Amino acid sequence: MENNNLLMIPGPTPVPEKVLLAQTKHPIGHRSPEFSEIIGEINENLKWLHQTQQEVLTVTASGTGAMEAGIINFLSAGDRVIVASNGKFGERWADLAEAFGIKTDRVNITWGEVIDPEIIREKLEADTNKEIKAVIVTHSETSTGVLNDLETINRHVKNHGEALIIVDAVTSLGAVNLPIDEWGLDVVASGSQKGYMIPPGLGFIAVSEKAWQAYETSTLPKFYFDLGPYRKSATKNSTPFTPPINLMFGLQTALRMMREEGLENIFARHERNTRATREAVQALGLPLFAPDHAASRAVTAVAPTTVDPEKVRSVMKKQFDISLAGGQNELKGKIFRIGHLGFISERDVLTVISALEAVLAELGHESMKPGAGVAAATRVFAEL
Ligand SMILES: *Cc1c(COP(=O)(O)O)cnc(C)c1O
Repeated sequence: MENNNLLMIPGPTPVPEKVLLAQTKHPIGHRSPEFSEIIGEINENLKWLHQTQQEVLTVTASGTGAMEAGIINFLSAGDRVIVASNGKFGERWADLAEAFGIKTDRVNITWGEVIDPEIIREKLEADTNKEIKAVIVTHSETSTGVLNDLETINRHVKNHGEALIIVDAVTSLGAVNLPIDEWGLDVVASGSQKGYMIPPGLGFIAVSEKAWQAYETSTLPKFYFDLGPYRKSATKNSTPFTPPINLMFGLQTALRMMREEGLENIFARHERNTRATREAVQALGLPLFAPDHAASRAVTAVAPTTVDPEKVRSVMKKQFDISLAGGQNELKGKIFRIGHLGFISERDVLTVISALEAVLAELGHESMKPGAGVAAATRVFAEL
């Protein structure tokens, strides 16, 4: 059936109809008083979502563009940084930093495992000359479904005193509590097609006062992604360049929906959907890839041994028009991933689990008790 797709991947995520409709208006001038009012409202709500008093800057880019802005504005060529990596995105940040001549110390953890904050602590404590300028870390590693212990890593960075903490929060912002000011996170990057419930095209960067001080001495070349002008414009409810006006209409509506739901409720919904998905998958006799204590609230990675994950995905798509994500890089063909980030309800989770039962039965996954997944998910929804 046409147009009946259920998008259960960790980005792009589903977009509410209200948001889609908001985007279908004619564009208006980005220097008009009407648009200035919209920017003002968006910026207030972005601060609310980020739990910060600082301006949150919006750039026209995907999440990677936001991360690039987060690096080139606060560091210089030759700077030493630690990049903690336990998946594809961690690796991307090391590659990105190196492309700009930054000296990266890669802490590579096996994919699927959690970054041990002790390794970061040891490296920071050994740096008595305070040469390390930043610790770069992915909060929710989307490629494996692991949520890293950002709070503890950040504490070690704070004890170091000099280094900035630069965070990829692309699949954690709007899914799990991330109190930016309270923790004192310096640079936090995210992207619109993840927790924001709008299509791809916008990147967001929250910047601390300490990071703005580092900005003053950063010598990496930048122009379009020079965040200085973005900051200046934001205080005047404006933008330095033409923003994607229609995406901004969508963002305005999505942020209103989020405020109406409330941060606590949004986090609780993601927690429930994550727990339900994980319990259901286990009840169906499929191994989870990430440990319970470090489960991403955006995506659950499943590592089946009795069925081919790519077959699960293709039958799921063909029979039920449900899109799941596959494994990336070294995990290709080894896992499939169920996205539950953003505009995802309990009904969506129950739908994907019941469809998964049907697919597993068709593929001859024998250890499964039909109905066990739905029962497990239902139990979580009743309890939480
Ligand atoms: C999606 C994602 C990004 C950004 O990817 P883009 O395609 O550039 O939007 C960055 N980090 C993580 C953890 C992600 O999931």
